[in-house]
Amino acid sequence: MTTVASASPKPPLPPSDRKIWLDGRLVPWDSVTVHVLSHSMQRASLIFDFMSVHETPRGPAVFRMPEHVRRLLRSAELLGLPLRLTEAEICAAVVETVRANPGSTCAKVCAYLPSIEVEVVPMDDRMSVCVAAYDAARDVIARNAGRPHVAPELRLHLDRERQKMRPEILPPAAKVSANYTSPMVAKWAARRAGYDEILLVDEKGFVAEASTENVFLVDRDGTLRTPSLEYVLPGVTRDAILQIAKHDGRPTVEGSIRPEELFTASEVFLTATSAGVWPVISIDRKPVGEGSHLGRTGPVSLALKARFQEVTSGRVPDFDAWLRYVNEG
Ligand code: PMP
Repeated sequence: MTTVASASPKPPLPPSDRKIWLDGRLVPWDSVTVHVLSHSMQRASLIFDFMSVHETPRGPAVFRMPEHVRRLLRSAELLGLPLRLTEAEICAAVVETVRANPGSTCAKVCAYLPSIEVEVVPMDDRMSVCVAAYDAARDVIARNAGRPHVAPELRLHLDRERQKMRPEILPPAAKVSANYTSPMVAKWAARRAGYDEILLVDEKGFVAEASTENVFLVDRDGTLRTPSLEYVLPGVTRDAILQIAKHDGRPTVEGSIRPEELFTASEVFLTATSAGVWPVISIDRKPVGEGSHLGRTGPVSLALKARFQEVTSGRVPDFDAWLRYVNEG
């Protein structure tokens, strides 16, 4: 594990010069605030989605924007939240925000209930929508007093006790802040024990997903396996890796994975917008893999990581439709 130390004490940084899109117009980064008593703060009702922005030969491009925006609309629908914008309107807001914030590497869309409320059902159900496009290193990490945790290869803890929420309690497909409390508790405890990330199981004890990543294993015969969607967020990166693998002729299987199978797998990796393909080198301190890549990144993870980077940077014509070039119309 590598921990990047920040200078201490930190001098105050100037406010970010970035603009955030809020309910129809671009406003200064620091002006987008909500009251501490607002419904979304108090009841964890904020829904969001997070997409990546890449520098390409044709300028900045958002990766799979419509899929992310549709997932946000689905989160609203699953929870019965009255999000009154259409897919086209939110996509237009993302493009406008990315254009207005050069050098962004990601875009986050949030929809929330800003009203101060007394009960779980809000009297004022007007939702605010904001889009922020930024560079996490420059605009967030550099302004934090803490030390960012950076681990290019992961040491995982498999939490067999902490299950994913049952879908009928809180659907895992809903990207709502309430869904992150249990992973936060588990991951924070794992960090204190020297791990980088956790894996959660479903109610039947099968492998589900990490705190904010989907999980894959590579079988001894080279097949990619990942849990089906019942207990996990439908990750856009997960889907991209499955499609890229199929395109490249690599066998894939979506279905139940028993925790023991991770320990005999040839390779294990996580996927997420923030991390792309993220190799796992040990689980519960036991090295993952075999032979030359025992406890090291394996060749399939490395190849998929490189392939994914090629796709996101606009160098694979077959997947060019996944990129929305923001400076082109
Ligand atoms: N699972 C959870 C719970 C997540 O929060 C995320 C991050 N959005 C993922 C998986 C990975 O999804 P994606 O590839 O769309 O970033």
